[in-house]
Amino acid sequence: MNPFDLSSQQLQGAKFLSERRVGNVIGGVSGPALSGRWLPVTDPATEMVVAEAPDSDAADIARAVASAQRAFDSHVWRGLRPADREKLLFRLSELIERHADELSALETLQSGKLQGIARAIDVQAGAEFVRYMAGWATKLEGQTLDNSIPIPGPQWVTYTRREPVGVVGAIVPWNFPLAIALWKIAPALAAGCTVVLKPSEDTPLTALRLAHLALEAGIPEGVLNVVCGRGATAGAALIAHPGVRKLSFTGSTAVGKVVGHAAVENMARFTLELGGKSPAVVMEDADPSQVAQGIATGIFFHQGQVCTASSRLLVHRSLYRRVLDELAGIAQGMRIGSGFDAATQFGPLTSKAHFARVMDFIASAKAEGATLVAGGERVHDAGCFVQPTIFADTTAQMRVVREEVFGPVLAVAPFDDVEDAIAAANDTPYGLAASLWTQSLSHAHRIVPRLQAGVVWVNAHNVLDAGLPLGGIKQSGTGRDLGRAAVEGFTELKSVCMAV
Ligand code: NAD
Repeated sequence: MNPFDLSSQQLQGAKFLSERRVGNVIGGVSGPALSGRWLPVTDPATEMVVAEAPDSDAADIARAVASAQRAFDSHVWRGLRPADREKLLFRLSELIERHADELSALETLQSGKLQGIARAIDVQAGAEFVRYMAGWATKLEGQTLDNSIPIPGPQWVTYTRREPVGVVGAIVPWNFPLAIALWKIAPALAAGCTVVLKPSEDTPLTALRLAHLALEAGIPEGVLNVVCGRGATAGAALIAHPGVRKLSFTGSTAVGKVVGHAAVENMARFTLELGGKSPAVVMEDADPSQVAQGIATGIFFHQGQVCTASSRLLVHRSLYRRVLDELAGIAQGMRIGSGFDAATQFGPLTSKAHFARVMDFIASAKAEGATLVAGGERVHDAGCFVQPTIFADTTAQMRVVREEVFGPVLAVAPFDDVEDAIAAANDTPYGLAASLWTQSLSHAHRIVPRLQAGVVWVNAHNVLDAGLPLGGIKQSGTGRDLGRAAVEGFTELKSVCMAV
């Protein structure tokens, strides 16, 4: 029996785990935490430990930041021609694609996610995103300015330059461990920064594998360091380290605020991609079947563990029953099982603790009088499986409407007047995403500007593009991942004023 109790099919993809313990990657070298402590990595479908990753602390973070600082100061990366950085990032994207089987198997093992999602989002879209950002290495630019400097004598030349901020501390969650790590790493590297990445303690394996692939691609040692460990120890040390010049964080609003405070303490730059409670507003002229399909994907994709999930549905009363019935049909028909089974449409939640949290939300919605339309129960005795769940007739005060569940639980309510729907959509501390469902261009153009969210979809939900900035307003964060805004966020703007 192999040490991980994995089936041969799973092992084929996860050759990386030929050793049970997978080390941090600091300065191009893989090794344990200085303390010698390890944390288990658990497969949520079987609740079996499949690997161990370092339980790092401040001493390991200090080594990693020093390594990133050396790589930054030595100019091995920022001093490369931008076209050469671009070429190395392209090589990394090719290696990610070449290792698609292995990376997607690791992703499913550690998070329970469907193989199809791991391949499409973490691996394929992740590799495409690296290519998109690689292109920015050669396109970052300053401006020359006509100036009105009143000092006579010399001729004045004024211009701006974009320079890399320095060492980046990146902290990512467990829902799309590889993709979100790449959302941080690729623009940081394109801009010429060096990185210390701390993955979630639940899902460190693909980030560690990525660090090896970066070395194989020819990205110099120390440019990308990956240090695993808990938030309270490794994460806290990374955000407090004065050598880190930019913190790029994706996770909960509560932790995001801690990160923001720590950043300000050191005057580090920061980007915070936080939680959401995204509304979908369905107008009376929408196509009910299109809505049901789109919202089912919006809330049940990856078991709802998506920051932009369509967790609140507001439907015009004329379509309310029809949309609810179609949604319930979809939810009840979903095949629930292991992410490794090609027939599975809906896998487990990623950890036992999160499973308990989601079940608690379901209990609260039942207790608060929401109408259960589908799901609402645990599935199987073992594993972190919960049914795709829909509550109707929810009201603004219910916990399931106010708080982020980050799971497959949809709260639905009817509306009669569009003004009420817009007010309800905006009645949340969050402001990450929203969608509007309508056949009318005039509705779309009128309502989109009134929805308080960083991203708004029309007749779609959860559709991302490498070039479209992603980020929130209100309690959903500050700054943007993806797009030009993301790569510029890893640069400092320097103004130059020259007397000639
Ligand atoms: P989390 O905030 O608990 O943890 C995120 C990361 O922060 C982990 O790596 C964790 O170890 C680390 N961390 C925890 N405490 C820390 C501390 N004191 N100092 C430094 N680091 C610390 O979030 P999670 O449960 O891993 O992820 C779920 C959350 O992430 C949800 O709220 C979800 O909406 C959000 N999210 C947002 C986006 C987005 O783009 N806006 C994307 C995905 C997930």
